[in-house]
Amino acid sequence: MNDSDFLEQTIALSKAAPPSATAFAVGCVIAGPGGNVLATGYSREFGEHWHAEEVALSKAGSASLAGATLYSSLEPCSTRKSRPVSCTQLILDAGIPRVVFALREPPTFVDCCGAELLAAAGVEVVELPDYAERVRAVNRDLM
Ligand SMILES: [Zn+2]
Repeated sequence: MNDSDFLEQTIALSKAAPPSATAFAVGCVIAGPGGNVLATGYSREFGEHWHAEEVALSKAGSASLAGATLYSSLEPCSTRKSRPVSCTQLILDAGIPRVVFALREPPTFVDCCGAELLAAAGVEVVELPDYAERVRAVNRDLM
């Protein structure tokens, strides 16, 4: 499994998200340093306000994520309306050193600068825009 394979998996997961008129459908995979899947998540998997990254981080629990990579089909949020803590902050709190995503969050709901905040905090941020069109397709009613 390489970065592209994991990103493929996040897009597949995002399709399981219950539809919403006010939030994107996102998929997330957290992989260990050896390429093993530690946790997965998709938007609203645990309820209306749950983000994919939040679900996956919650499933990973207290596992050490010091060498992990978090894959998300969409840029992790930096501001959110429904909860006080952004996924960007949750990723930093979990100590995840590397984040890979396909599409920058469009400013449909909030202005997102997750990628910038993560990079500024020392996280390696990789954007694979070749997959952006497919993420957009999953969210075509919102973008
Ligand atoms: Zn989020």
